[in-house]
Amino acid sequence: NLQGKTAIITGSTSGIGLGIARALAQAGVDVVLNSFTDTEDDHACAADIASSTGVTARYIQADMSKGAECRRLIADAGGCDILVNNAGIQHVAPIQDFDPAKWDAIIAINLSSAFHTTAAAVTGMRDRGWGRIINVASAHGLTASPYKSAYVAAKHGIIGLTKTVGLETARDPITCNAICPGYVLTPLVEAQIPATMKEYGMSRDEVIEKVMLARQPSKQFATVEELGGTAVFLCSDTAAQITGTAISVDGGWTAQ
Ligand code: NAD
Repeated sequence: NLQGKTAIITGSTSGIGLGIARALAQAGVDVVLNSFTDTEDDHACAADIASSTGVTARYIQADMSKGAECRRLIADAGGCDILVNNAGIQHVAPIQDFDPAKWDAIIAINLSSAFHTTAAAVTGMRDRGWGRIINVASAHGLTASPYKSAYVAAKHGIIGLTKTVGLETARDPITCNAICPGYVLTPLVEAQIPATMKEYGMSRDEVIEKVMLARQPSKQFATVEELGGTAVFLCSDTAAQITGTAISVDGGWTAQ
């Protein structure tokens, strides 16, 4: 029973983070939404979850590219029972042209943020005697694609972090796991479509079918609701012995 537990979901005002926040709220979890922006829409997002599910939902601004802000997010929320490290960005370029600032930003947001939030949250979980840490990795945490050097490196890294934290918390009633989505049609993926259309001289539909879903055998995008369901399952008591592992939700991508 997840009623009365509190979850912090980083980068959760859109896409997968928002889908996971909604699913946890529907399961009775109080949620803390986060992004780096602090707009009216961000707060409205939290208000919408609260009014549709009856849980307490707050929005806390914190920039996940900065370690101190990651740690402040946990402190401002008053700790948490469930930590979902989801914030992430993408940049696509051949390695020789890859902007070093983009490399640093991707490593900071997609990987180092999870180190800082986990370090800040795990003692509170031990004190409360229960905890769930869920890292949103990617099929790109298990396999690679060209032109995504920083993203693939960060996602492989977060799976390593997941295993390590799983071992460090193995004797505690805490689990740490990664979820590895294949392609999900979120704003992050939408943003890659125009450049890919240009690069390959393809229509939008061709990019989706021949590039994005080329390696996803189901030929369907995974949905944010499916990822939300996976997160809720990992928070359940039945999943207590699942730790330090990576669960693919990728339509068969990494089975190949
Ligand atoms: P999205 O762009 O829809 O959402 C990303 C969220 O991260 C947004 O809420 C944004 O505000 C937030 N964010 C970005 N920079 C931030 C920062 N500096 N500080 C705080 N928040 C920040 O993307 P999405 O597709 O929902 O991706 C969410 C996660 O899922 C990412 O880690 C991504 O790598 C991963 N993922 C996505 C897919 C996919 O196909 N969409 C596949 C595999 C993994």
